[in-house]
Amino acid sequence: SWKKSKFRMTYTAEAPALTEGQDVHLSKMLESQNLQSQKSNRSTIFVRLNTNNHDSLSYHPGDHLGIFPGNHEDLVTALIDKLEDAPPFSCGVGGLEDVRKGFISPGCVISNWTNETRIPPCTIYQAFQYFLDITTPPSPVLLQQFAALATNEDQKRRLEVLSKEYEEWKWYNNSTLVEVLEEFPSIQMPSTLLLTQLPLLQPRYYSISSSPDLHPGEIHLTVAVVSYRAKDGKGPIHHGVCSSWLNRIQKGEMVPCFVRGAPSFHLPKDNHTPCLLVGPGTGIAPFRSFWQQRLYDLEHKVVPHDPSLRCVFKRTWQTKGKHPPPESTKYVQNVLREQLSETVYQCLKLERGHIYVCGDVTMAGDVLKTVQQIIKQHGHMTLEEAGLFISKLRDENRYHEDIFGV
Ligand code: FAD
Repeated sequence: SWKKSKFRMTYTAEAPALTEGQDVHLSKMLESQNLQSQKSNRSTIFVRLNTNNHDSLSYHPGDHLGIFPGNHEDLVTALIDKLEDAPPFSCGVGGLEDVRKGFISPGCVISNWTNETRIPPCTIYQAFQYFLDITTPPSPVLLQQFAALATNEDQKRRLEVLSKEYEEWKWYNNSTLVEVLEEFPSIQMPSTLLLTQLPLLQPRYYSISSSPDLHPGEIHLTVAVVSYRAKDGKGPIHHGVCSSWLNRIQKGEMVPCFVRGAPSFHLPKDNHTPCLLVGPGTGIAPFRSFWQQRLYDLEHKVVPHDPSLRCVFKRTWQTKGKHPPPESTKYVQNVLREQLSETVYQCLKLERGHIYVCGDVTMAGDVLKTVQQIIKQHGHMTLEEAGLFISKLRDENRYHEDIFGV
């Protein structure tokens, strides 16, 4: 746990390269282009990265790219402005460790300064921009620590209450660290508290949208740029860290990234196996890599033409939106039920094909239920039998899901 007297910052002559020691590689941003119409208030970007044919960035269609983003410069500056002791130099953080040395005299405690290795020595600006999570609402433990540092009694009390009624507060406000410090200006915030206690900034994963054969040396992504207003749409605007960073950086800038294999979401080896691809919105991302790969195989391996990839993509209504979807909104599961039920049955039951579902967890659950209903209806089965058929599909690695999150 953190105590002011137990941590100190020390000057380091030079900050190392930010990716040193990590299994990540720098890919150059070649292009980023908005795919939405100019009238749309949303942004979905097509991102093209140059991997320089680096071995560790080789991939198969269906794999994911992990990206380490940077927090927004304005947010980092605003946070540093709120610290009581931000160091102007490149620094490392040291912690005081009690070392019991019984052989000197029993019970005698000697204290040693040890280097904190969570983040490399760097400037405080780099620490907040690249290594620490400064946007997720502070945890209950942090709020309690903030309460102890607040000099105003009322603010101290309110922070203690928040740490206990945490979930409700977090869900409604989704406050960033800077917003908390603005709401409770009496907190005397020391740098070492944040440098040692904030969670590390996590990489974000994206489904790769290109075929390595069709675009050697490149990785393409399809990214929905996240931005929303907290407090039921009435609060300050929040921007997703990674998607807005990718939207912000310029051509030629470097993106720290790594490939994460997704072997359970690869295309079947036999190019003739029929596949159903189901994904609303950015759920289309991995499927672009699939059809590019099939196109390449068709052109280079003299595979006879076979319309074996059937796609179901639709705009769906945001599950978090407060308003009901417009009448014209179609969900992918409705399209499957109303227009493609025979195709689904034929592909999965009669032709021993595969189904690939990509998008959020709610959509994936709805598609699963719909497929079960279709199998029940066309196969003249009970719901339970249809469920067992789907379990079998999964065992045979013919029902594939790529889930983006909740
Ligand atoms: P963050 O800073 O992480 O913010 C997101 C958070 O903001 C949410 O968790 C939620 O707490 C909050 N939030 C967002 N919207 C609202 C709202 N309306 N109201 C209230 N709170 C809200 N994304 C793609 O665009 N394309 C892909 O191909 C893709 N593939 C993925 C594959 C996998 C395996 C996984 C796990 C995820 C994938 N994602 C993809 C999602 C992606 O990883 C990120 O989660 C997404 O880009 C948001 O990250 P961010 O850093 O921009 O936002």
